[in-house]
Amino acid sequence: MFGNDKAVDELGRMVLDYAEERLTLHPVPLDYVLSEAELLDRAGQTITTEGIGGARAMDLFAEVLAPACLSVDHPRYLSFIPCAPSDAAAMFDLVVGASSMYAGSWLEGSGAVFAENQALRWIADLAGLPEQAGGVFVPGGTIGNLSALVAARHAARARAVEEAKGEGRPLRPWRVVATAGAHSSIQSACDVMDAELVTVEPDEHLRLTGPALREVLEREGPETFFAVVATAGTTNFGVVDDLAGVAEVCAEHGIWFHVDGAYGGAALAAPSVRSLFDGVERADSFIVDPHKWLFAPFDCCALIYREPALARAAHTQRAGYLDVLTEAAQWNPTDYSVGLTRRARGLPLWFSLATHGTAAYTRAIERTLEVARHAESEVERRPDLELVRHRDLSVVVFRRLGWGPGDYQAWSDRMLEDEFAFVVPTTHDGETLARFAIVNPETTEADIDAILDTMA
Ligand SMILES: *Cc1c(COP(=O)(O)O)cnc(C)c1O
Repeated sequence: MFGNDKAVDELGRMVLDYAEERLTLHPVPLDYVLSEAELLDRAGQTITTEGIGGARAMDLFAEVLAPACLSVDHPRYLSFIPCAPSDAAAMFDLVVGASSMYAGSWLEGSGAVFAENQALRWIADLAGLPEQAGGVFVPGGTIGNLSALVAARHAARARAVEEAKGEGRPLRPWRVVATAGAHSSIQSACDVMDAELVTVEPDEHLRLTGPALREVLEREGPETFFAVVATAGTTNFGVVDDLAGVAEVCAEHGIWFHVDGAYGGAALAAPSVRSLFDGVERADSFIVDPHKWLFAPFDCCALIYREPALARAAHTQRAGYLDVLTEAAQWNPTDYSVGLTRRARGLPLWFSLATHGTAAYTRAIERTLEVARHAESEVERRPDLELVRHRDLSVVVFRRLGWGPGDYQAWSDRMLEDEFAFVVPTTHDGETLARFAIVNPETTEADIDAILDTMA
């Protein structure tokens, strides 16, 4: 149907050669953005009735399309949260793609699920979650947060029904509480769920604390809430909330405690900052994106529940054609999140962890923290620059004295045009600011200095 053996051989060689070259390229080019008109001009119409042939399609990808995508693993890509997969993880993504395996159920993907579960266990142990904890790798933090909140609401409503014992109408808690610094995906999850997000004012260090949470819950009626979201590493500043204080208030009121560690959770593996996370062991659910600071390629969020049975009750899809799976006692990853069909997306992380060992992860994360420490002290040392907040993790936010929003944007655009660095400005309290998110162990002190030099 799709060509003879010889053609497939040739395609295979082409694809593997390209992948090998990209995977072993050091340094990688930052690359650039093109407009749709420019791309149409260079690539033309690529989908045709008879096909343009593998060689031509590969060529177009290599020469036109790929360079029009920024390399997120470039050491001076410090915007948003970058992604810097280890070579082992990136290479293994290729193997997963080649393997035609289904990792939604134990029946179909037992080997992959077993390996993914060992990787999840490593994370659960870092967080200090109990033996029965477990979960699933989902595409990203957005789906991880949504899935956790769906489980939380299901559990809260089931318990309310239980408590009402058929007398009167059971409560239907519909609200979530978090700080304004929580990730935009929490608001998005609430929108999808038709839930209401109530925000708590953070303290002067931008953290959610127990007392502030207690005040809001008591004012608003704790029985109206089904989950509290604490952030372990906010996206804009890397702030770790007072997890122990928040856990305590959740326990007092019997409210589900979700910890969003999509970015920062990786630092559980870093002894120098581990104490910031005290209290995470009390989480009912926890996420971390290995595609952020745990050196896995995109499409990887670890979602872990303290009581997986509560998540299963919320997420298991039921249908005659699925009975053979849902009636089995085995671990079916798909039962723990929104979504059914799933790629074995935890395997690149698993392979890299198995290959290098967990100590290599600790060293790599500590290295990025060292570079972040350097960035912070350089900002403090340079008279034109001013730190906005002392860093908890590896995000450094600072201002260039005398600059307005247009100056930051022009500076950022110029660095990208020169294919030198990708550092977009951020805003906080209406002020435009410069921000580095350092998660790539290849980023050096010299990279930071070179970028700061451009702000003089
Ligand atoms: C990035 C991020 C998310 C969303 O994760 P995606 O993988 O982009 O969907 C959620 N929470 C925090 C704190 C994040 O930094």
